[in-house]
Amino acid sequence: MKRVTRREAIQGAATAAALPLLGMPAAVPAQTALPGKLPGEVDVAIVGAGIAGLAAARLLQERGRNVAVLEARNRIGGRAYTDTTRLGHPTDLGAAFLKSADINPLAGEMRRREARLQTDEGDFWLFDQGRDGNLRDAATEDYDLLGLLYDRLDDALLDAKTLSTDVALASRARLDVNGAQRWLDLARAMAGPLHVGIEYPQVSALDAPRLSGTGNDGWLSGGFGAWTADYAAGLPVWLDKPVVRIDWANDGITLATAEGEVRAGVGIVTVPLGVLAARDGILFQPALPAAQREALGRMTMGLINRIALLYEPGSFNAPANTQVLANGGGNRVFSFRLNVHDTPVVTATVGGDFARALEGQGEAAMVAAARAQLKRLFGDAADGRFVRGMASGWGQDPFSRGAIAAARPGFAVARRNAGRPLTSAAGRGRVLFAGEAFAPPDWVGSAAGAWLSGRMAAIEALRALG
Ligand SMILES: Cc1cc2nc3c(=O)[nH]c(=O)nc-3n(C[C@H](O)[C@H](O)[C@H](O)COP(=O)(O)OP(=O)(O)OC[C@H]3O[C@@H](n4cnc5c(N)ncnc54)[C@H](O)[C@@H]3O)c2cc1C
Repeated sequence: MKRVTRREAIQGAATAAALPLLGMPAAVPAQTALPGKLPGEVDVAIVGAGIAGLAAARLLQERGRNVAVLEARNRIGGRAYTDTTRLGHPTDLGAAFLKSADINPLAGEMRRREARLQTDEGDFWLFDQGRDGNLRDAATEDYDLLGLLYDRLDDALLDAKTLSTDVALASRARLDVNGAQRWLDLARAMAGPLHVGIEYPQVSALDAPRLSGTGNDGWLSGGFGAWTADYAAGLPVWLDKPVVRIDWANDGITLATAEGEVRAGVGIVTVPLGVLAARDGILFQPALPAAQREALGRMTMGLINRIALLYEPGSFNAPANTQVLANGGGNRVFSFRLNVHDTPVVTATVGGDFARALEGQGEAAMVAAARAQLKRLFGDAADGRFVRGMASGWGQDPFSRGAIAAARPGFAVARRNAGRPLTSAAGRGRVLFAGEAFAPPDWVGSAAGAWLSGRMAAIEALRALG
């Protein structure tokens, strides 16, 4: 296999991302989860202990404010989750890479906390389907053709940022590249399902983040989710406390759980957009304003899942994190990473309708499907060294209901309207919304965006508290 020059140009934003901050994960204390009774009253009550909620809590605590974070699950980190037991190696089932780590604000925070990011220097391998149906290494010009399509898609996303009205990416991208017809499906999958978890025709040109970054992506050897859990050390997080109702009628706001209530001057809601929009999600009293509910309806949750497969060491002769894509799958595309973070683990990322259909079949079927495709690519010898696998199920998880938020084409403005702050009729209680769905435009969908939005909400909360 050859080394690919266009490697960094063909990574999906949510699936790939990585910079040199050097070496080892930070030595930080384990997460603190407070047992026992909820506090009756705090300055700021935060719903959700993902990166956004933790960022908000940390900033507020540093400014001397009394905060409480209520988390529905029995763990911290939300969509940043590292499993350390099932494959015997830290395996990220959600966020894994820091895109453009040289300019990524969350990478900056990690550096300040002495975490050491590794550079993503994996190869990029492209397989092509021959007339006999077999998959083999693609020709050099095919790498270039796919790279060109990818650039065209990214250009269309960049150009769209200057538009005043939103349109579908499909109507803007000029994919009429001579000789590239047979690579169109794969390119579209990279800009749709593998990028934002939705089908290509549904991608909004104004709303979707750019495909390419600076090319300097980073990852943490101990796992992204593990770092996130450690980031919570010392913060007042209550686990297993799903918030079922938010009252914002009066002077302050009240968060209700099955085990009691917390009152606060400001509430920061960081649950995923799918939870916010769900009829059986959190009950707002009074109901969210009609314009906000309409905006939520104009948005959707894209689905991306990761399937992780453990093989015997040395099964794949490839540099760590080598990305593998194959032609011929339509929108049923697996984006593989071989020897993830220098371990014998392979991850397969799937997105969109294909991910939803696979998730519906259950974890074993997801693992079997990824394994079968790897066998097609690398043959019986590698397959014979398979040990075991596991998969995420972000779509059916009631506390995520998908992977990342996206506006439907034509409705990019919905993202801003869906996250408008609420002020109680009595004038003092404030509810703010944060999380990846409400991140600044350049970082929507990413962990960095979630982190930024949490900090922005915390600053707004400080202003509201006076
Ligand atoms: C498969 C996958 C791959 C990804 N890859 C990358 C990547 O490589 N790089 C990257 O930067 N980003 C990636 N992302 C995106 C990244 O994971 C998210 O943007 C980020 O983690 C979101 O953080 P958040 O705090 O906004 O939301 P979350 O992490 O979802 O946190 C919200 C929290 O709210 C909790 N909650 C939900 N309902 C309630 C309730 N009723 N009461 C109390 N708590 C509740 C949830 O349990 C959760 O802990 C990926 C996502 C997925 C799913």
